[in-house]
Amino acid sequence: MKIAVLPGDGIGTEIVAEAVKVLNVLGLPLEMETALVGGAAYEAHGHPLPDSTLKLAKEADAVLFGAVGDWKYDKLDRPLRPEQAILGLRKNLGLFANFRPAICYEQLVGASSLKPELIAGLDILIIRELTGDIYFGQPRGRRIAADGHFPGAEEAFDTMRYSKPEIERIAHVAFQAARKRSKRVTSVDKANVLETFQFWKDVVTEVHAQYPDVELQHMYVDNAAMQLVKAPKAFDVIVTGNMFGDILSDEASMLTGSIGMLPSASLNSKGQGLYEPSHGSAPDIAGKGIANPLATILSAAMMLRFSLNQEASAVRIEAAVQKVLAQGLRTGDIYSEGTTRVSTREMGDAVVKVL
Ligand code: NAD
Repeated sequence: MKIAVLPGDGIGTEIVAEAVKVLNVLGLPLEMETALVGGAAYEAHGHPLPDSTLKLAKEADAVLFGAVGDWKYDKLDRPLRPEQAILGLRKNLGLFANFRPAICYEQLVGASSLKPELIAGLDILIIRELTGDIYFGQPRGRRIAADGHFPGAEEAFDTMRYSKPEIERIAHVAFQAARKRSKRVTSVDKANVLETFQFWKDVVTEVHAQYPDVELQHMYVDNAAMQLVKAPKAFDVIVTGNMFGDILSDEASMLTGSIGMLPSASLNSKGQGLYEPSHGSAPDIAGKGIANPLATILSAAMMLRFSLNQEASAVRIEAAVQKVLAQGLRTGDIYSEGTTRVSTREMGDAVVKVL
């Protein structure tokens, strides 16, 4: 089982180190190879996704990814910015389905900004399409400056598009995932305003005919954003496009207490996947040893489940995370009075000790 380990920038290196420690105590035949990505790769090789890193990722069964980005790269030409590495990996590996489970752990009910009764027992799954939509459309503008800004321009626009096969395959993923849960899918669109999303709605409805046992509901994205904080437990599986999914999944992250708790998986049609925490490189806390490594550790569990066929080990990791939370251990982002504040490394060590 070959894993490409790409820690990236900022807290990426700190949190991935903890996940690797956890993977190493499972007693599995894992072969892990590390490579540079993002700003770190740009500094060393002049590109955020060097060929050698892409090759390693393509040849691996799974990629364990930290995070990329730093504000100091904001002035770089857009294709050289660290964030392009993640877009390049998604595109080159064909990672079209992004799974973001938002689970509220009993011990963290108090850490959310929402009332405990709204989120206690929350377990929803957001499935975001990753390779289409406006993020991969044609950007147009009078590109004057090399840094990607448009001084003096009168307009700029990006085109939004989805093809039928792209919508069909993500709809199948959502209905199949729902079959393993409570068989309810909410497809989120903006069909009242955008042609692309009327098309989305039509295609999802068409695919639904093959899943009569699953209930399908359509919801406009503005309403979905509201319902997510009003009555989040009313959802089970949410499926949506790239941009709406980006925004809604960050919103959902706060339901669980902290973005530092949220894992994610991005899968292609061969079951190969890239596993990363839902958060970014957090330059504001990088190097301080205070980042929460649990989202990355839980991402490693998803990797074992979805790409490496090691369900038992995935369950072991998830149970170990529950146990350290029950022991009262908390990094700063989920700390509350009466609990014990620990560092990134101490949190990783605690999970290892339980395992
Ligand atoms: P961010 O997710 O990095 O941070 C947002 C806030 O959450 C910050 O206050 C940060 O300290 C906190 N936070 C994030 N992860 C945490 C953790 N594990 N433990 C404790 N606190 C945590 O988002 P941002 O500040 O908007 O972006 C910073 C950089 O990350 C940017 O360059 C952005 O482009 C990049 N980014 C990368 C990815 C990715 O690699 N996939 C995703 C999002 C943002």
